[in-house]
Amino acid sequence: MTETTNFRISHSLSDGLSVEAVYYGSGTLCISTQVGCAVGCPFCASGSRGLKRNLTLQEMIDQVAGAMGVGHRVQRVTLSGIGEPLHNPDAVRMFVEWGRKRKLPVSLTTTGAPISVLCEFLSAPHNGLMLSVHAGSAAVHRRLVPRGPDLGELWSRLAEIWPHLPVRRRRKTGLNYLLVSGVNDTDAEIAELVLRLKNFPEMTLHLLVLNPVPGSSFRSPDLSRVAKIHSTLFREGIHVRRANRWRQRAEGGCGTLIAGISLEKPRSVIPFYNSLFSRI
Ligand code: SF4
Repeated sequence: MTETTNFRISHSLSDGLSVEAVYYGSGTLCISTQVGCAVGCPFCASGSRGLKRNLTLQEMIDQVAGAMGVGHRVQRVTLSGIGEPLHNPDAVRMFVEWGRKRKLPVSLTTTGAPISVLCEFLSAPHNGLMLSVHAGSAAVHRRLVPRGPDLGELWSRLAEIWPHLPVRRRRKTGLNYLLVSGVNDTDAEIAELVLRLKNFPEMTLHLLVLNPVPGSSFRSPDLSRVAKIHSTLFREGIHVRRANRWRQRAEGGCGTLIAGISLEKPRSVIPFYNSLFSRI
């Protein structure tokens, strides 16, 4: 049964820290891979206090068990919550394999850093890899994804690898572009993005809109600007999609999950589970 809303779930860890996950009503569970994040995207609550530590494989599995334990029908998992998955590659690799064995599709969202790890994950048996670029130019990319990959190097490594990826893998690789008013929604930024994307015809661009978090000075563009950017990209032949309705909600927006502290009361609190590996 499809639910009609998103559920934000806070997980207490054994050392007193906490992370959050979101169950989208569509059946997708978004989980965290780290407590905090070292990338430092300035619009993001998840990384606002820096990185505390990596999550273990068991702590990632516990987030799935926790969501199932309160009755959510988890049909797929996305590693798009708190943290940069490629900064915790061993646990993420094992989690993808854990999902594969249970026929639970696992996808991930990454800034693409480190690029050497990205190259390995592009052909790993996941259900999709979304690259969060959020910029057309290197200057805006450095501002919005400060400790992400070098944008020029990212595009050139992708161009090298892309022709060697099976078509099925290429279709499972996409870009996220989170629109931030006055920063990356200008005609010049979009034109640079279009130029880059012309080399990757099968790549899908997911146009997301910022959900501002309390205390942030970043704002989302108005809907007419979003529509104009979407039609520009479409006219240019880019395979572009708008965020689905689950991602448009406040809990579903990029960077709105919290590590360690809660800015607002969580909807449900899941205790730390021991050894749930065998229960799933
Ligand atoms: S948006 Fe993602 S990569 Fe950037 S700081 Fe937040 S959790 Fe880290």
